[in-house]
Amino acid sequence: MSLLVMKFGGTSVGDIERIKNAAAKVAAETQKGHKVAVVVSAMAGVTDQLINHCRAISPNHNPREHDTVVSTGEQITSGLMAIALQQRGLNARSWQGWQVPLRTDSSHGKARITNIDAAAIRKRIEAGEVSVMAGFQGVTDDSSISTLGRGGGDISAVALAIALKADRCDIYTDVEGVYTTDPRLVTKARKLPRISYEAMLELASLGAKVLQTRSVELAMRHHMPVQVLSTFNNALGSELPGTLVTNGDETMEQHTVTGIAYTRDAAKITLAGVVDSPGVAAAIFGPLARAGINVDMIVQTAAAEGKTTDITFTVPGNDLDRARKVIDAERSKLSFAKLQTSADVTKISLIGVGMRSHAGVAATMFETLAEKGINIQVIETSEITISVLIAEEYTELALRALHTAYGLDGK
Ligand code: ADP
Ligand code: ASP
Ligand code: MG
Repeated sequence: MSLLVMKFGGTSVGDIERIKNAAAKVAAETQKGHKVAVVVSAMAGVTDQLINHCRAISPNHNPREHDTVVSTGEQITSGLMAIALQQRGLNARSWQGWQVPLRTDSSHGKARITNIDAAAIRKRIEAGEVSVMAGFQGVTDDSSISTLGRGGGDISAVALAIALKADRCDIYTDVEGVYTTDPRLVTKARKLPRISYEAMLELASLGAKVLQTRSVELAMRHHMPVQVLSTFNNALGSELPGTLVTNGDETMEQHTVTGIAYTRDAAKITLAGVVDSPGVAAAIFGPLARAGINVDMIVQTAAAEGKTTDITFTVPGNDLDRARKVIDAERSKLSFAKLQTSADVTKISLIGVGMRSHAGVAATMFETLAEKGINIQVIETSEITISVLIAEEYTELALRALHTAYGLDGK
């Protein structure tokens, strides 16, 4: 008998039938003798809609009230899930973040969990309750409702699993597990039976939204096993049909490249004809950092005569306008000929723990893209990743070609 946390994402609770279907899965696990805590997301699309309501009143609305509004999607599904479980004869009860309490800092919209006092939930679970916690939300020290960032239901589930000392955290979603790349774009993507925390962390942070990056980080720190699996088939989490994210070992990731991630959420800025003198990089990136804009990839190329250089870098897509303004404001101090920007770019990344010990991984990537006539705009490497920036229109072509080139294709 185990204690399981079962988290259902937005599509899995997308309508009343789906909530009932998820409740049936919970009931089946309890019938097998497992104790269960459930974490739910808002119905698919609801969080977006709530954010749009706030923006419609004011683009710069108050962050505290933003969280009051956008957290409500999960309040609805937690109550509906509890009702669906009660309908099946289970002893169930919903818990909002503040009722647990799941405490966070006060950075509204992207709050960090500071503590979960799981004593009350634990007592109820031991007495036979299925506790249903609203994901994505918490409470600050001054009793304001907070939210944990997009996709934050995942971190709610992992954090609750850790606080309850659960045996595993099962993340039920709309695909059968973690794949070698997004199965919606590459039909030959293969489901991975297991993946190490380390590789999963890179996949997530480089764009594979199947798990929120922070949830992987937290699970890794506490060695909490996480399984990603589908809500839409008959298999139960306790049968381990999905992908287990866990501590890695050398035999686990046999391929040099474990997976390929992509993100369209990048924008490119090029400063052309920058006068090449000590301090230029600081003059560009200092003000951006002070404005809280994360610069990701950077490349600098020198002009033939060596007096000027072009500096290209990427920022998150939704910071592009702000970044432009910051650089324009520095124009008097910075000497450059032209400022060009483009939001039509995609960052494609190879991830593989095995890259540490294999040479030639990057060369294959560059050759594969060249064969398809895809131009590489920026390159970035780390110990276990290689990323390139390409034109957005080639995203699917590049993913498919690379997936084949690294031997990742399934049948
Ligand atoms: P949920 O609403 O259940 O939280 P998400 O939409 O956040 O679900 O995450 C699931 C989606 O992640 C899938 O539908 C899939 O398109 C996408 N995805 C991207 N990369 C991968 C990958 N490598 N493996 C599986 N799914 C992926
Ligand atoms: N409902 C939230 C979102 O859409 C959290 C989640 O689904 O995990 O971002
Ligand atoms: Mg998600």
